[in-house]
Amino acid sequence: MPEKEVAEAIIHLYRRGFITLSEGNVSIRDGERFFITPGGLRKDRVRPEDIAVVGLDGKIIKGKPSSEYRLHLAIYRIRNDINAIVHTHPPFAVALAVSGISLEYPVLAEAVTFLGPVPIVPFELPSTDALAERAGEFIKKYDNLLLENHGAVTTAENLDLGLALMETLEHTAEVLWKALFIGRIKIFDRSEVEKLLSLRKTYGLSHRPWRAEDFRYNL
Ligand SMILES: [Zn+2]
Repeated sequence: MPEKEVAEAIIHLYRRGFITLSEGNVSIRDGERFFITPGGLRKDRVRPEDIAVVGLDGKIIKGKPSSEYRLHLAIYRIRNDINAIVHTHPPFAVALAVSGISLEYPVLAEAVTFLGPVPIVPFELPSTDALAERAGEFIKKYDNLLLENHGAVTTAENLDLGLALMETLEHTAEVLWKALFIGRIKIFDRSEVEKLLSLRKTYGLSHRPWRAEDFRYNL
C-alpha cells in the first residue's frame, strides 16, 4: 500500500534526523499519479490516510500535498524510470550545499557505485515552479541532487532504494565534511572510479550507469 510506505518513510526520515518537524517530503509514483506526504502536518505523526494524491497532469486528486509537490511532478514527468522521490534537509549535506561543495568528488566506494555524482542545483525559492524547473534540468543527467542553501533529493525505481540513497548521500557528506576539517583528502582517480562503476553490473544495478568523466577530480 503506497500510502503506508510513504507515511512510514517520512517518520523514518524524521527519526533519522534528516528533517525537522515541518520539512521534507516523500512520494511514490503509481502509473499516472503519485502519492505524496501532506503539507502542514507534523512529520512524526503522518498517517496513511493523510497522504495526498496528485495526477501527472498536475491536478490534485486527493488531500493537501506538500508545497514541494511541483518538484516531484517535474521529476516524474521528465524521467519515467523514477518511481520514488525523497527530499530532505540532512545537516551535513546541507552544510556542503551552503558551502558550494558538491558531492561530485569520488571519495567513497559506495558513493561512486550506488549514488553517482551529486551536483548542486543553483538556489531557487522552495516550493516554486522555478525550483521544479531547475531541478528538472539536472535530473535529465543526474539521479540525485543537492539544492543550494536548501537540501537534498534522491530518486530511484522504488522507495527503499530512494531511502538507502539518501542515507548514503548524508553519510558521504559527513565523511567529506570531516575530511575537509582534517584538511587532507584522497580523491579516487579515473581508473579507480571506472573499476568502482563496473561493480554496478556485479550488483545487478541497471539504473543510470555513470561514467568516470561525470565526476570531478579537483577539489
Ligand atoms: Zn526542502
